[in-house]
Amino acid sequence: MDGKHGAASKLAARSVGSGRVPALGGSGGKTAAVLGGGLSGLSAARSLLERGFDVSLVEKRPFLGGRAYSFYSREADTDVDNGQHVFMGCCTYYVDFIEALGAYGDAALQDSLRAEVVRDGKRGVLMSAPALGPLHLMPSFVRYPHLGVVDKIRAAYGLLRAALTDRRRHAGALDGESFYSWLKRHHQSDGAIEGLWNLIILPTLNDTVHSVNADMALMVIQEGFLKQPRAAAIGYARVGLSSLAGIPGQRFIKDRGGAVILGRAVRAILVGDGGVSAVRLSDGSTLEADAYVSALPFGALLDCLPPERAREPFFAAAAGLTSAPIVGIHLWYDRQIMEESFAAFLGSPVQWVFNRSRIQGEAGASGQYVCISLSGAWEFIDRPKDELRKLFTEEMRRLFPLARRAEVRKCLVIKQPDATFRCVPGVASHRLSQATPIPNLFLAGEWTDTGWPSTMEGAVRSGVYAAEALAASF
Ligand SMILES: Cc1cc2nc3c(=O)[nH]c(=O)nc-3n(C[C@H](O)[C@H](O)[C@H](O)COP(=O)(O)OP(=O)(O)OC[C@H]3O[C@@H](n4cnc5c(N)ncnc54)[C@H](O)[C@@H]3O)c2cc1C
Repeated sequence: MDGKHGAASKLAARSVGSGRVPALGGSGGKTAAVLGGGLSGLSAARSLLERGFDVSLVEKRPFLGGRAYSFYSREADTDVDNGQHVFMGCCTYYVDFIEALGAYGDAALQDSLRAEVVRDGKRGVLMSAPALGPLHLMPSFVRYPHLGVVDKIRAAYGLLRAALTDRRRHAGALDGESFYSWLKRHHQSDGAIEGLWNLIILPTLNDTVHSVNADMALMVIQEGFLKQPRAAAIGYARVGLSSLAGIPGQRFIKDRGGAVILGRAVRAILVGDGGVSAVRLSDGSTLEADAYVSALPFGALLDCLPPERAREPFFAAAAGLTSAPIVGIHLWYDRQIMEESFAAFLGSPVQWVFNRSRIQGEAGASGQYVCISLSGAWEFIDRPKDELRKLFTEEMRRLFPLARRAEVRKCLVIKQPDATFRCVPGVASHRLSQATPIPNLFLAGEWTDTGWPSTMEGAVRSGVYAAEALAASF
């Protein structure tokens, strides 16, 4: 429970003794309860507050932000993010969301894409030339050293086919096909797949080209790289992730008279003839509202629904979703080992390295803090942390000459086994719509049907879509 929060404190007071917690009502507005305080729940709460609803948000953990948060690590004796998060210029709902929370100033977004890609010490740069419009990547692509001439011609053909593919028209077929199969059908060599396509797909879809479906992969390529130059720009938080959404999100709700209930889990969504009548919380109290947005992960939603409702085909479809891991290796060196803000690596288990010191505006410091982000990290998720520390500090010495003489002062390994849902072939039929067969229950969560992969943008969109569907139902 947020002790500083007047409205939330009132809820706690009412729950004592009565065991029943009415959602805050006020100014004759309709009440809405949001279940789950990740980005999707925060986004739903924001949209509902802006539509005049009285909103109560329940989150089981003592803080908001869901899978995008920062925390104090006793091991490293400093604040760290649970994982490096990146957004792109095409993430317009996410940018609008952090702007509304007053946190956009704490994020950085490139004017246009510039990313170094290194293989065996050879540096290439993928960058936009915005003046060239849809051909903005062409000059850097021509100079890109990690593809031979033939592979470049093939890759250019593949990009053209990607740009011309009508995803709406072929949605079913593309959802059912792996992107690898699509690439092979379009004459892509293994060299082009490794040196270009997987470089884009692995960090954006948290899975390899072999496993993702062609629809989501083409969505990333079209929205992120082919529609307009600014869309490809890379952005990130310059502060801890909680300061970008969780903390300002809580303040946003509070300032608009909403309630935030922290540290209490939703145990059951109680459904009667007319729809959801209340939700039961972990302390035995119940929370009532006119309408509900579940912004819970898919597994938690199914656990909280009455079993007979969870077995209905509409909801049961979500049981087919699966998740993918991310592992972060955080290293504190006694000196500077890299200059750029981030770089990608080919031919190495290191995929992307982020220069956290520079990103956080501490570039002048004597040492340097960097984070290796490993997407689709099945190979590493079950390996002992000491083994990962050894493997990656040695690999960093191979990749960064300046790391060879540097001392690693601290190393922290953060494993997130269920970082994202997997965009495997057939996933579309498992993503539920925001409106449900239960009239006053709406769904948010990046795993719902947003048309986006498992991203902060998808989470924020899902919250907006759920709020729109809820508002339209009155
Ligand atoms: C390491 C890592 C790196 C990532 N990198 C990126 C990136 O670079 N770019 C990007 O766009 N995305 C990235 N993502 C994905 C992104 O973080 C998620 O897509 C997004 O945060 C999901 O938000 P959500 O609100 O849909 O779900 P969640 O964040 O999972 O929110 C669900 C909330 O519900 C709460 N909850 C669960 N059960 C209950 C219950 N019974 N009662 C009450 N509350 C409950 C949870 O505690 C949580 O707060 C990354 C994720 C991870 C883990």
